[in-house]
Amino acid sequence: MQDIFCSIVSGEVPAEFVFRDESVVVFKDIHPQAPVHLLVVPVQHVDGVGDADNGTLGTLISVAHRVAREQGLVDGYRLIVNDGKHGGKIVPHLHIHVLGGKPLGLKIVQDTEAV
Ligand code: AMP
Repeated sequence: MQDIFCSIVSGEVPAEFVFRDESVVVFKDIHPQAPVHLLVVPVQHVDGVGDADNGTLGTLISVAHRVAREQGLVDGYRLIVNDGKHGGKIVPHLHIHVLGGKPLGLKIVQDTEAV
């Protein structure tokens, strides 16, 4: 399945890359929600968490930590994976959001009525 992140991986769609190797790319989110907002994306298309093997998931998290440190997030960061309709996933290609650069607050769900 071809999606926007496949097109970024292949270079058809431009993005601001901060890391790239044979299995993972990391680029800046086009609509940043924090001073640093990166997307960690597998090169091989994987739909979501349930489709990825443990090696891929581990590699994505390791790279997320590495780029967070390289981007100066020494006071911490937040990783988010949206999965499925209720998780609010928009792009159908597994990705981890890396957010940081300021205190992000304690809430992970804004809508308390949802609880
Ligand atoms: P989600 O699928 O909800 O986890 O989030 C998808 C994220 O991809 C959103 O934060 C978008 O701002 C981001 N995004 C969508 N298109 C692009 C793009 N062309 N370049 C960078 N980020 C993008």
